[in-house]
Amino acid sequence: MAARCLGRGVVRLLGGLRGVGARGLAAPRLWGSASAPAAPAGSYQERIALAASEPAAFWGPLARDVLVWDTPYHTVSDCDFRSGRIGWFLGGQLNVSVNCLDQHVRKSPESVALIWEQDEPGTEVRITYRELLETTCRLANTLKRHGVHRGDRVAIYMPVSPLAVAAMLACARIGAIHTVVFAGFSAGSLAARINDAKCKVVITFNQGLRGGRVVELKKIVDEAIKLCPTVQHVLVAHRTDNKVHMGDLDIPLEQEMAKEEPVCAPESMGSEDTLFLLYTSGSTGTPKGLVHTQAGYLLYAAVTHRFVFDYRPGDVFGCVADIGWITGHSYVVYGPLCNGATSVLFESTPVYPDAGRYWEMVQRLKINQFYGAPTAFRLLLKFEDSWVKKYDRSSLRTLGSVGEPINHEAWEWLHRVVGDSRCTLVDTWWQTETGGICISPRPSEEGAEILPCMAMRPLFGIVPVLMDEKGNVLKGGDVSGALCLSQAWPGMARTIFGDHQRFVDAYFKAYPGETFLPPLDLVSEPFPRGRGLRERSLLSLPLSQEQSSSGFSQGLRPWAPRRRAGRHLGDNRGGSRPPPGLHVVVFPTCVVLFGGSSRTRVPLETDALQSQARYYFTGDGAYRTEDGYYQITGRMDDVINISGHRLGTAEIEDAMADHPAVPETAVIGYPHDIKGEAAFAFIVLKDDAGDADVVVKELRSVVASKIAKYAVPDQVLVVKRLPKTRSGKVMRRLLRKIVTGGAQDLGDITTMEDPTVITEILSAYQEYKDKWGAAQ
Ligand code: AMP
Repeated sequence: MAARCLGRGVVRLLGGLRGVGARGLAAPRLWGSASAPAAPAGSYQERIALAASEPAAFWGPLARDVLVWDTPYHTVSDCDFRSGRIGWFLGGQLNVSVNCLDQHVRKSPESVALIWEQDEPGTEVRITYRELLETTCRLANTLKRHGVHRGDRVAIYMPVSPLAVAAMLACARIGAIHTVVFAGFSAGSLAARINDAKCKVVITFNQGLRGGRVVELKKIVDEAIKLCPTVQHVLVAHRTDNKVHMGDLDIPLEQEMAKEEPVCAPESMGSEDTLFLLYTSGSTGTPKGLVHTQAGYLLYAAVTHRFVFDYRPGDVFGCVADIGWITGHSYVVYGPLCNGATSVLFESTPVYPDAGRYWEMVQRLKINQFYGAPTAFRLLLKFEDSWVKKYDRSSLRTLGSVGEPINHEAWEWLHRVVGDSRCTLVDTWWQTETGGICISPRPSEEGAEILPCMAMRPLFGIVPVLMDEKGNVLKGGDVSGALCLSQAWPGMARTIFGDHQRFVDAYFKAYPGETFLPPLDLVSEPFPRGRGLRERSLLSLPLSQEQSSSGFSQGLRPWAPRRRAGRHLGDNRGGSRPPPGLHVVVFPTCVVLFGGSSRTRVPLETDALQSQARYYFTGDGAYRTEDGYYQITGRMDDVINISGHRLGTAEIEDAMADHPAVPETAVIGYPHDIKGEAAFAFIVLKDDAGDADVVVKELRSVVASKIAKYAVPDQVLVVKRLPKTRSGKVMRRLLRKIVTGGAQDLGDITTMEDPTVITEILSAYQEYKDKWGAAQ
């Protein structure tokens, strides 16, 4: 209906694709092929218990039923947190694009896969599964013709659009690895990602449109690829009718696609082959390319999409995230498409042309699930409720929030005003690393309570553990600590591209756990007759008190060795409870079973036990209520969350460090009522720096051009010195206290080199506040 509003190229492309039919479908595959994931059997509690105690028994059948396979897997999982080895559905082969497209085209080719809500208000374009498959195949053939092979990396620098989705799926079809770079990142950030991934091809648009403004995407790519020796071609699609400079490497995408067949045989990929890289900030200055693989990621995205949002066939699913973030990957593209859903692609902003944009769209597209970010909700609640109320929102069933903690005001507004107090509201916690939602109020027992501003319940197979600062597991309710996850799940990232050691160091070293005991061999020792079970058997072992308790109270569940039931132990990394009267002690190399006066030693694969010996550290803190619900309290590292986008303070500091007049900077996050958090930069100037205001302006533009506009610090304060320890480390914790009004209680400052710095900074900050009405 909105064809006249589309760019020339897109209209021509979609027009040229009509009527090709289903001849390009991949041959029917083995196993699976449900249009929505089958529900695992049992009550919610039984499913949660099974997924935690026997992951293989839970995920194995689900993977068989939900995904369409070329070759069945032989091993459900093989994971070891110590070495960071994560593997699921080993031996299996499949193609992700077949799962997201061909299987649905076979059953219902004309059902709508995507509704592209364009920037131009009131305009939408519907794309059927057949059209999306054909577009994907033409794009896949274009990539192949331009030298892209299985395993090659392709950068996608495009805003949300059907062609961007087709580009992701085209890579998946031919076994290439995509890395989508958020189209708000600067040329410098784009170049850094292209170079790290060694991308061969970049796919972009001539220009983008956002909030009525033109974004010069191709110009940014031109600037970036000057620094990227690996790039051989830039495929340029057209979003607007404006001409852009086309150089030697540039290829007009729609023209090339029109020459290609709308049929492309899918590559059969191993479950653990890489599907995509997605870069995210860590606490160092270099973003990390997290690697997600095929089967486990897709399964987890599809299953969580269905169960968290109560997705039902025929629903219109509206996630307004950009595909440049993991939310866009999992809940705009892969989860919904694997489930055969109709997924909305939102190209605009929440306030363009006015504050009713989301809700007018909900009414027009009859959206059933709406998934957005707290930063947008906080912005919108400042407008009159009439912007919401004047639109019909009766289609909505589930409202979701993601990206940062949602405050009470935003939660209440979403629930009461948008959801008319009748929709289910899910605050979903997860990360780029987790691949899909990990903690969310749903799924749950039917009708179970939902408490405001809380992610609450772990998903199937997610076993959260809270740790104190010494690395001890915190038991019970009403406790806060570092949020760790104690066992692997199919959707988790597998490594950091090109740097597996950084993956291990960043996620598995902080909380090693206590269960990795030195090898002990007790088989030859006679078991003392007449002694009872638990306490005495422990006493009989040559273990320290700390060691002896570790197997039981430090998060390691007792294992019931499956060999007793005549089955092999190796595949089951979860374990289960021993039968009553049988007591189990776990050692690195064996399990010892005590029952009455008898004892049996069951040797174990060392790997199996090691997998229990480390925790995945999320980087977030969390609070557990008396009822066992989780509330995320925020990052524990030097990563801040601006409008739901993660950014390492070190990245901003690194960007500013190149300024010749600025020898030192320290960046911290502070609370911001719309963005959630914003960056506050403390800078030291050289004596001959000149006009400080000019330098600050330059610094802001350096950050925008090196990283992105959203990374620019809202506040910049010039100070004479930074607070440091005697060993020279900047004490950002003190700067945070000053900015958040906690300067009366600075905590332990005995390691500080010169405490007078604090007085100096406090008075500079007061002056700054008086002048500019700064943060707070
Ligand atoms: P990203 O990987 O960019 O999606 O960012 C993940 C980070 O966002 C998490 O580590 C959390 O700090 C934060 N986050 C995501 N969802 C939530 C939520 N529902 N509540 C609180 N923090 C969240």
